[in-house]
Amino acid sequence: MATPLQYLSHPLLTQKQVTLAVLREDLLHPTIPGNKWRKLHYNLQEARTQHAETLVTFGGAFSNHIAAVATAGQEFGFNTVGYIRGEETVPFNPTLQHATSCGMQLRYLSREDYRLKYEPAFQEQLLASIPNPYLLPEGGTNLLAVKGCTEIVTELQEPWDVICVAAGTGGTLAGIIAGAQGKGQIIGFPALKGGDFLQADVAHWLQAYSGRGYGNWELQTGYHFGGYAKQTPELLDFIEAFYRQHQVLLDPVYTGKMLFGVFDLIEKDYFAGGTKIIAVHTGGLQGWTGFKERYRLSWPTEDLLS
Ligand SMILES: *Cc1c(COP(=O)(O)O)cnc(C)c1O
Repeated sequence: MATPLQYLSHPLLTQKQVTLAVLREDLLHPTIPGNKWRKLHYNLQEARTQHAETLVTFGGAFSNHIAAVATAGQEFGFNTVGYIRGEETVPFNPTLQHATSCGMQLRYLSREDYRLKYEPAFQEQLLASIPNPYLLPEGGTNLLAVKGCTEIVTELQEPWDVICVAAGTGGTLAGIIAGAQGKGQIIGFPALKGGDFLQADVAHWLQAYSGRGYGNWELQTGYHFGGYAKQTPELLDFIEAFYRQHQVLLDPVYTGKMLFGVFDLIEKDYFAGGTKIIAVHTGGLQGWTGFKERYRLSWPTEDLLS
């Protein structure tokens, strides 16, 4: 299932003599966005092998991962339970509306309890009433998720020098680094403020998956735009202009920030002439629905988001 690579044309690329292509992982699966499908794919197989009945996971109220697990459960015949951080707010935002419409049962954890979610005793309590649960961590990053994300690279047919990808938990980034097996340069763009913590997390996943570390990757931590799920007018303008130029809709939480960063680095001569850059469109367009509501945006239009 190779995803299309869309080469961009832009005066800056001509001027700096670099090529930039967007890997359209957002088109990978009809209902589950890009990297969430990569991360779930082998986990769903494993859940089936274990005869699990219920997928259980954790996330914030706007989480792409929660939405993806709910969809996957409905599509692949699992019940789903989502432990949501914080209090229930009604009416549901579009993410949680979608989740419940897929049959996900929502349970709420206070911020204090949410922090305890991986404590064995507490977790046992959370799972006690759920028959044959299969647990997926917050954001969906585990070894099978990393394995799924290696295929983003191993399926690539075209030559490349640099791969750029947005990072939340860093699982997708780790998979890409592992899949590249030391080749090229991989740059992760944390969507969270203080993204340096990902240095250790990604190294952990690399060690766990590949049994080694790699030196050909780095984080660019300066493109969080105020923090996770925060935006600035400059970012939203960039996303709109990007759509008008390239007919590729980016999301406001991850891929918009990453591609803003890629263009900024190109502008600043970060890449030598001749460099072939691939930016991974990890998907995440469901993130717009909540933002449009919150910020009363009239753009992007519904037909772009459907
Ligand atoms: C979840 C998500 C990410 C982050 O993936 P990690 O593996 O947690 O780093 C990036 N882009 C999009 C669109 C996402 O939904």
